[in-house]
Amino acid sequence: MKHRIVVLGAGYAGAYAAGTLARRLSPADTEVTVVNAEPDFVQRLRLHQLAAGQEVEAPQLADVFVGTGIRLRLARVTAVDPERRVVAVADAEGGGELGYDTLLYALGSHAANRGVPGVAEHAFDVSSRPAALRLRERLDILSRRDEDGSVLVVGDGLTGIETATEIAESRPGLSVALVARGELGAPLSAGARSHLRRACDRLGITVLEHLSVEAVEATRVLCAEGAALASDATVWTAGFAVSPIAATSGLEVTENGRIVVDRTMRSVSHPNVYASGDSAYAIGDNGRPLPMSCASAGYTGMQATSAIVGRLTGRKIPNTKMEYLGNHISLGRRDGILQVVDGEAQAKPTYVGGRKAARIKAGILKMSLWTTSHPTFGLPKLKRHLAVVPDAAAERTVA
Ligand SMILES: Cc1cc2nc3c(=O)[nH]c(=O)nc-3n(C[C@H](O)[C@H](O)[C@H](O)COP(=O)(O)OP(=O)(O)OC[C@H]3O[C@@H](n4cnc5c(N)ncnc54)[C@H](O)[C@@H]3O)c2cc1C
Repeated sequence: MKHRIVVLGAGYAGAYAAGTLARRLSPADTEVTVVNAEPDFVQRLRLHQLAAGQEVEAPQLADVFVGTGIRLRLARVTAVDPERRVVAVADAEGGGELGYDTLLYALGSHAANRGVPGVAEHAFDVSSRPAALRLRERLDILSRRDEDGSVLVVGDGLTGIETATEIAESRPGLSVALVARGELGAPLSAGARSHLRRACDRLGITVLEHLSVEAVEATRVLCAEGAALASDATVWTAGFAVSPIAATSGLEVTENGRIVVDRTMRSVSHPNVYASGDSAYAIGDNGRPLPMSCASAGYTGMQATSAIVGRLTGRKIPNTKMEYLGNHISLGRRDGILQVVDGEAQAKPTYVGGRKAARIKAGILKMSLWTTSHPTFGLPKLKRHLAVVPDAAAERTVA
């Protein structure tokens, strides 16, 4: 019987890992199944652009995996049972169970309301494509109105900064405000902070600092400091969380539900399970937890892949580097900040800003799309006849 590898999630971590596993392992001995909720590869790094109204390429996963032999199962993962080694999935036909010998868990993350009342009911976010499209629809309505609409972005982390600047640049008719709990862009170097402030001024963004949002209502946001801020569309970017599936499955997780893994991305509690991307709690080369990021998804996906291949083939498992080099923040389409950090994850005094940073970021976005959506390095478009096994043919239950 073939060794069954099931990869949960086809985002930056999962799509890359699945393609690489299929490329490096013999199809005679191994079968790789990918379960993903959506039919295409979502470029999460660009969801703020999608929300602002731009078109963002989304390759079909069936095309991405052409020639790899990967079985693609379009379904929502609802549970993992690591004792029985099965994954429960739900789809339009009702779902079922998938058995595995090795599991790679890469279900990513979603916006977290941090217990603030009203966020779930009234706020928008950009953490998934459906969420970004909901915001886009709202912005379309506001843009069509006669009077100016107001957009309030809560959170001045990387996602908040990128979202506020993108909306302000793409929709100059709307008034955009950015709410920061402390000083705007506090983790950045002094030079990068000034650059960010100038960019906000240029784009007409109102920066509201030292405010903690404690409730979101339909048309306003209430702050602990007593301020009530009017808003026609509140965008919540003040935190990300992972799905509760890992925690409820009995895998060892951190208190916020990320799967605890060893240096090879193997679960410390269940040796048949690996995790990568935002779902994994992995320690970087600097001894600190890797941040949720595309780069971390790449490193952890690569390391998990090498470990699975090594253990199945008896080859030595190489150590993938696990670096945290810095942050790359877009400020609309023509400006950006590239902030390098030191070994303690603190901003170095120098940064790259402006068009140069925007061009580098555009290059990174292209590269991350290409590497993820060409798991066979573009070779086998000619092997279309080996196409992905269609959903209907995928096994429903494997004992
Ligand atoms: C707007 C925005 C901008 C960002 N910008 C940057 C940036 O500039 N640089 C950077 O490094 N990081 C950035 N990030 C963070 C980065 O996108 C994530 O860290 C990265 O996507 C993590 O990769 P992943 O593979 O773990 O998860 P994802 O890319 O989110 O992939 C998870 C996959 O799992 C699927 N899935 C989830 N739950 C289920 C389920 N129950 N059943 C089936 N399928 C499921 C999803 O559909 C998705 O395909 C940004 C995030 C956002 C939201």
